[in-house]
Amino acid sequence: MVKAEQGLETQLIHAGEPSPRIEGAVSMPIFQSSTYEYGGEGSYHDIRYIRLNNTPNHQALHAKLAAIESAEAALVMASGMAAVATTLLTVIGAGERLMAQDCLYGGTHDLLRVEFPRLSIATDFIDCTNPANWREQLTPQTRAIYVETISNPLMEVGDLRAVAEFARAHGLVSIIDNTFASPVNFRPAELGFDLSVHSGTKYLNGHSDIVAGAVIGRADLVSQINLMLGHLGAALDPHACFLLHRGLKTLAVRVRYQNESTLKIAQFLEAQPEVARVHYPGLASSPNYRRAAELFEGSSGCLSFELKGGLEAAEAFIRKLTLPICAPSLGGVESLITRPATTSHAGMLRDEREKAGISDGLIRLSVGLEATADLISDCEQALRAI
Ligand code: PLP
Repeated sequence: MVKAEQGLETQLIHAGEPSPRIEGAVSMPIFQSSTYEYGGEGSYHDIRYIRLNNTPNHQALHAKLAAIESAEAALVMASGMAAVATTLLTVIGAGERLMAQDCLYGGTHDLLRVEFPRLSIATDFIDCTNPANWREQLTPQTRAIYVETISNPLMEVGDLRAVAEFARAHGLVSIIDNTFASPVNFRPAELGFDLSVHSGTKYLNGHSDIVAGAVIGRADLVSQINLMLGHLGAALDPHACFLLHRGLKTLAVRVRYQNESTLKIAQFLEAQPEVARVHYPGLASSPNYRRAAELFEGSSGCLSFELKGGLEAAEAFIRKLTLPICAPSLGGVESLITRPATTSHAGMLRDEREKAGISDGLIRLSVGLEATADLISDCEQALRAI
């Protein structure tokens, strides 16, 4: 039994674990069964079936995720985008509107810009750092406000406290994508957010070997989202549940190391003559530094930066690196490097991307668990070679 006052590290290991242990197994076994023997359940939603997200592997994960974000309930899903889409489709219907941060993960941005208008759901984009302008975007049809804890890829930190307060004052559901921060650095429910969504593919799992998603927050909303999930069908397979469960146990040690390593790499890059600018909220020079220091326990394992030589220099730099792997995604044990204009934000129109400040030469680095000194010397040799 985990008590609320126990530390995050303890909750990651013990919260949600079956009690008593199944056949004494220390590690949660995989229940690879799509259906379960009828046991007199009164309603369809009480029948155990993988698509209904209620097998023992799902239930253990739900309890663990809720505990580590100090929230009432949680639900895992087949991907981060499944979590974003299922959550939004539950809280907003045809003819209603969403307020959303203007710079979002490319997949989410596309969902709002391309798919939602076909369902008569409109989005009003807001500058998340400027609460004075939000009131004018509010309409009687607005139902929810959607932001990211740390924006991808420019690592901006909006006025998150004001977002939660604004939502409460105007009866909106507040939703935050907490993928980049992870529950180690930020727990949205503690600031008053109704729901957080995650790409579990990233820090929660941490090993770049599954795709998964989660929504965490108010129990009444999570149970409505669960009904929608049963209809949309994006359930997480038990084997992926097992891998996510295993990854979660080391979340705190991984993310704390990544926070520290990334800050040192950001400080190194900032001091190099070839580097034009570094985006990392943990840097004292960042416009987001004070807000990040107030809200977060660490500034995450991702940073982005631009070289003075632009796109050509960026491509040469990535080619010369020997440790970070040039691949999309983030939050794993291997360092990954990418140009968002060709990966996470490729679906945005060029002028939208430029307006959002994502140049073709912008490089995003997800720092893994390699020795910090090795990553710095790899960056140094690549910079000297371009
Ligand atoms: N949210 C953020 C901030 C992301 O970076 C991503 C993926 O990169 C997603 C959501 C979507 O997650 P998934 O790829 O697991 O569907």
